[in-house]
Amino acid sequence: MEQNKRQLAALQRLLALPANRGCADCAGGGAAARPTWASINTGAFLCMRCAGVHRGLGVHISQARRPAPGAPRPRLTYG
Ligand SMILES: [Zn+2]
Repeated sequence: MEQNKRQLAALQRLLALPANRGCADCAGGGAAARPTWASINTGAFLCMRCAGVHRGLGVHISQARRPAPGAPRPRLTYG
């Protein structure tokens, strides 16, 4: 439980960085390109559209994960 809190705090610090406020792939502006997904093996925060592209690439290239339902900010999930 304590480890989860530390990991969530680290993730929130990463998301607060200016470079992570937009999608790593399309770097588009606006709410549509807001990163709500993450590629857990590349460490990139992605918008929903680009996450779909990553999921199509196969898990040997990118492992995109979506946030938990209702999560206000992106969260990494495993499994
Ligand atoms: Zn994108």
